[in-house]
Amino acid sequence: MNIRTTQRTSLKQKPDGPLGFGKYFTDHMVTMEFVGGKWEPPQIVPYEPLSLEPSTAIFHYGQGIFEGLKAYKNTDGELRLFRTMDNLSRLNDSAERLCIPKVDTKIVYDALVALLKLEADWIPTEEGTSLYIRPSIIALDNALGVRASQNYLFFIILSPVGAYYEKGFSPIKLFVEEYYSRAAKGGTGDKKVIGNYASSLKAASIASINGYAQVMWLDANEHKYIEEVGAMNICFVMEGNKLVTPALTGSILPGITRKSVLELAKANGMVIEERLISIDELVLAAKSGKCTEIFGTGTAAVISPVGAFCYKGEEISVGGGKLGEITQKIYRELTGIQTGKLEDRFGWSIKI
Ligand SMILES: *Cc1c(COP(=O)(O)O)cnc(C)c1O
Repeated sequence: MNIRTTQRTSLKQKPDGPLGFGKYFTDHMVTMEFVGGKWEPPQIVPYEPLSLEPSTAIFHYGQGIFEGLKAYKNTDGELRLFRTMDNLSRLNDSAERLCIPKVDTKIVYDALVALLKLEADWIPTEEGTSLYIRPSIIALDNALGVRASQNYLFFIILSPVGAYYEKGFSPIKLFVEEYYSRAAKGGTGDKKVIGNYASSLKAASIASINGYAQVMWLDANEHKYIEEVGAMNICFVMEGNKLVTPALTGSILPGITRKSVLELAKANGMVIEERLISIDELVLAAKSGKCTEIFGTGTAAVISPVGAFCYKGEEISVGGGKLGEITQKIYRELTGIQTGKLEDRFGWSIKI
């Protein structure tokens, strides 16, 4: 497929300091509009401000969704994507939930690949770095009535990102939230819907004031069962060889990193349990030494080791607060597959 491309006349200066996360954006983006009942062909255009009227639907009722994925480049200049079609079909699941018309995932994939090839110079190659890819869809009608929009903008922007762990791969501490909820069954917590993140900020700021890096979310109904951590899924290593993670009960985002970790751990001979896990069970398991490692999983950090959590004012450490062996092994294997350094037995990593 030939994507209509309008290139910038002069390219931006590339950043030369630390990249951080989501601070710099490349020269071009993909845009695609839904008008007159259909998606127009995608285009590649210069990355630049959008011009939208203040009445635009997205600003008022948040009919918008997004995805997050990464591309990798090695020192030979090879570009790789990881399970990208899974992200695009999840985008369509999110679209369905918010009454947004679905996209043709093949067309979007081709447009993404064309954009990545055009922007290849922006993809960093140092250990731990990558190009973060942010596809989004926003409602475009200029109207204040609460209803599904008839016009939408799909876009993909790219951001070179640095190693997530600039100070080393060290465990974080979690604050178990007992009052606020991230998502309820029947709501939108199992989709990447923009409003989910605005409503999580309050709990995150309380956790931060108390000295904790992320929130551990419990279920909205009883505040009893563990669901997620920040914007990551969560895994527990129990009894040496068991990987336990909350079952996808309808208010948990079905992470692609989560799914990959489970498949990888299973292939490594671990026992996988997807089930309800209560905060009381975790407290006992951490104190008795039955639970030896906790880690979060998500595209941005890939794996985030957890050394302690605070529940009802008590800080409980896990595995002596140190980075666990299984956490480290899974991180090395998964990032090895993503970057093409390790053999991929699963067919997840695609050279483009
Ligand atoms: C995106 C996201 C995740 C992780 O999903 P990945 O596909 O692994 O990146 C987990 N929880 C929430 C709330 C998310 O938004």
